[in-house]
Amino acid sequence: MSKSEVLPSIIRILDKNTQERISAGEVVERPSSVVKELVENSLDAGARNVTVEIESAGRKLIRVADDGRGISASDISKVFLRHATSKIISYDDLFRLSTMGFRGEALFSISAVSEISVESAPAFPDGRRLPGAAIKSSYSEVSGPSPSSIAAGTIVEVVGLFANTPARLKFLKSSSTENSACIAAVQSLALANPATAFHMFSEGKKIFSLASARSTDERLAAVLKKDVFDRTVSFQAAHGEISVKGRVSEIDAFVASRSLQWVFANRRVVSSRAVSSAIYDAAREFMPRARHPVFTVFVEAPPSTIDANVSPTKREVKFADEAAVFSVVRSAVKSAFSSSGPVRYGFARGGGAFAISSDKRVAAYDAGVSSSGIRRREGDELSSGFFTSELANSRVKYIAGIFGYCLVAADEDNLYLIDAHAASERVLYEKYRIRETGAATQLLLAPVIVDLPPSVFADVSASLKALKSLGWKIEPFGESALKCEGTPAVLQDVNARAVLMAIFGAASVEPKSAPRASAITEEDIIKRSCREAIRGKEMPGFIEAQRLVNDLFSTQNYQTCPHGRPTLIKISSSELASKFRRT
Ligand code: ADP
Ligand code: MG
Repeated sequence: MSKSEVLPSIIRILDKNTQERISAGEVVERPSSVVKELVENSLDAGARNVTVEIESAGRKLIRVADDGRGISASDISKVFLRHATSKIISYDDLFRLSTMGFRGEALFSISAVSEISVESAPAFPDGRRLPGAAIKSSYSEVSGPSPSSIAAGTIVEVVGLFANTPARLKFLKSSSTENSACIAAVQSLALANPATAFHMFSEGKKIFSLASARSTDERLAAVLKKDVFDRTVSFQAAHGEISVKGRVSEIDAFVASRSLQWVFANRRVVSSRAVSSAIYDAAREFMPRARHPVFTVFVEAPPSTIDANVSPTKREVKFADEAAVFSVVRSAVKSAFSSSGPVRYGFARGGGAFAISSDKRVAAYDAGVSSSGIRRREGDELSSGFFTSELANSRVKYIAGIFGYCLVAADEDNLYLIDAHAASERVLYEKYRIRETGAATQLLLAPVIVDLPPSVFADVSASLKALKSLGWKIEPFGESALKCEGTPAVLQDVNARAVLMAIFGAASVEPKSAPRASAITEEDIIKRSCREAIRGKEMPGFIEAQRLVNDLFSTQNYQTCPHGRPTLIKISSSELASKFRRT
């Protein structure tokens, strides 16, 4: 943004006709809408640094301070007037708009439902300063302006939001939901404006500090934190006047909620059906049920082809050519998936067994996963007495591994085709749930610190009890991280970080959803940990495969994995015989 060269702005009253042609809508619905409007004003003023503080999820206090170009003392008395804006003069200007605000309605609306003060001093690009001024309004009762000693920039403080409108207060969701919504509002604006530094505090506690970044990716990495960011891939494409770029979850790193999804149209935070459904469509074949992609999508298109003149709280936009946007996003994401090294199952013959491998994951997991678990250990196999005793007594006999994932086994009456991953998951799941091990903990050599996006973290802390009861040794660490010192023994030498990311990847509160009753359940924790614990493991060797077959048939629900996929396909000898027309 190159707004810094603009002089202190002049505030005008829009003419009646223009007023009427801009749909009014409800600007202030909840604390997060106030946060959004105030931060947008700071950005419109060319701020390089924005600090947001909230208390009681924004009901008690919302304070936004910036170092933007400020408001002159002669203009400050107009800020609470309806349709007072420095950003457009006439209706036609709407189509040349580069600012986020333009209705001249936010401060007017906020001043009607709170005690608000605006304190500002203009700053010129050459460093000249003008004296500051302050103005207040208490539920529409304006007082001031008065002189202020503020340094260059603007501070807006909103206190007692909705105290005079009990109906609105009642409409608000739980504090944690409203708090997350405020954080999410600042986060999305921070993503769209990487060059500006953002600092956010809630209840006096730092939620995040985002230094000025040189690129959108650098900013995204700071918002998502490394663990989530590292599991995304970038995409980019253009078609005619439309260009899109962004990042999306890797095909095996989808998360539990929709809250880490951002769409921008010409750098404005929006929501777009065409864009979201294109991504879901591209991800469909890889995405397990109840999982969602993390994504950012920046769409650039001529402003005249984007219909954003809808209610200010509804971010939904419509593109003139929705189908074109859909297909350009979908194909960009699809090709990102295929070029980012999809999980490949290959054969690696050795000692008569097959190996399952994924180019990417093997590299990623080798550091953290030991070779125990279902990984093959040739030496052990030969030296163990298992081969002669236990194997000989197995009712269902393992025969061979095929296709890199499938175990072939048989008993007297049936042939079984077993999905090795699904079977391992079922076996591990039952061990974990039944807690044969009495929720024993295996201590890690060094604690693992997992950074989580702040909006996710609140929810995580609510699930700590369940984690601990399952054998996790874990506690909150710093602002929004978890420190893990031990994992459930039943998971063996699991990669604690990967499992925690799988459990909490983004199981956060959705700003728009109903108040969430509970944290992630114990059942979810078990399912997600099992899936992650066996991810990236190789196709079992002969002995391990036989052990897996035995374990599978001794579990209660051996026919499906915990996520409902079949673990095996059974073909009876009579079915076979009839296929061969032997009967
Ligand atoms: P709009 O943003 O639609 O113009 P607002 O009610 O949000 O309307 O703000 C009214 C006017 O107050 C803006 O046009 C701008 O001139 C001034 N203003 C508000 N906040 C700031 C700020 N942080 N820095 C500089 N000017 C501001
Ligand atoms: Mg505004």
